[in-house]
Amino acid sequence: MKKDAGFSAASLAAQAMGWIDPVTRAVVPPIHMASTYQRDDDNGYRSGRVYARADNPTFDQAEATLAALEGGAKALVFSSGMSAATACFLALAPGDHVVVSKVMYWALRNWLATFAVHWGLKVDFVDAEKTDAIAAAVKPGATKLVWIETPANPTWVVSDIAAAAEIAHKAGALLGVDSTVATPVLTRPIELGADIVMHSATKYLNGHSDIIAGALVGARDDAHWAKLRTIRAQLGTILGQTEAWLLMRGMRTLFPRVHWACRSAQSLADRFAAHPMVAEVLYPGLPSFPGHALATRQMKGGFGGMLSVRVKGGERAAIATAARVDLWKRATSLGGVESLIEHRASIEGPGTPCPPDLLRLSVGVEESDDLHDDLDQALRRAHNG
Ligand SMILES: *Cc1c(COP(=O)(O)O)cnc(C)c1O
Repeated sequence: MKKDAGFSAASLAAQAMGWIDPVTRAVVPPIHMASTYQRDDDNGYRSGRVYARADNPTFDQAEATLAALEGGAKALVFSSGMSAATACFLALAPGDHVVVSKVMYWALRNWLATFAVHWGLKVDFVDAEKTDAIAAAVKPGATKLVWIETPANPTWVVSDIAAAAEIAHKAGALLGVDSTVATPVLTRPIELGADIVMHSATKYLNGHSDIIAGALVGARDDAHWAKLRTIRAQLGTILGQTEAWLLMRGMRTLFPRVHWACRSAQSLADRFAAHPMVAEVLYPGLPSFPGHALATRQMKGGFGGMLSVRVKGGERAAIATAARVDLWKRATSLGGVESLIEHRASIEGPGTPCPPDLLRLSVGVEESDDLHDDLDQALRRAHNG
């Protein structure tokens, strides 16, 4: 594939950048298992590779593809989404101030409120879907990072990336965006001004619920990016080589999977919004959703495969519904080919901003009518006791 042929992101993903093995002409790359690399006769390392805690050739394609899909300069794959996200905060110094969204992936929120604070970061949690709240919290000179997740777990509130980038940059801070749910198919945060894009690659990028992985994409290959690379090498939070290979294999079908999930999620949101046992559907694709206008501007081609339903009858009815599905799988996580349902407050525990009557739905690639009928019967059976 010629480098500047102008192919779309979907085509680049399908062919993993058109990579062909130069020796065997294989259309799929090998997995490099080596942990170490031989020195040159003159004591140098002309291959650029020394030891596999820093990187692995099996990462190259996944990282190049991710950088291309996000329109970034460079990408790094990590052992998990959490190790990718926490690297962005560990790249700061104790005493630095950060502004982060209140509604976000619960394990990162916990880490920020405990480890990061003990380590010395000053962390302000704000309603990031309100641009004014970010503006009020940043401290010019002291704030080094603004962190948003959009749409955000598990209520799918939408934050304005371009506005957040402007506020962050004016204060001398970087903007990091957890774009796990939007995926590069729907939103490209770097084009909107973000400095770092983070993914739990466990979710849509891999898409098959069979690896734990994370990724960062940087807008620039600069000193800050070098720091993130060093943190990965020092902490050893690298992805396994087999997982990196599986990630690349999963990303080839990212576009069709995400487009399918968006269509199904929109149809399910529309139908369940009118369901007699549903109090409210939370989905950026519903015109009644508070962030809908912003999502329409910021997300292209769909509103994602994630939605939540608030069940009439409260927590008891919600848990009873999750217990009565058959096709939906009752499990945590998201972004896989199989649809998942979860009573979210149960896993987030005390202090969660998640309403107790909320069921989180990750829409996979099954037939949308089957998913509708299965949840419909579960809601009715739970309601009738
Ligand atoms: C799952 C998830 C994470 C954490 O990623 P892991 O791969 O589980 O470590 C972070 N952010 C979001 C939005 C997620 O869904």
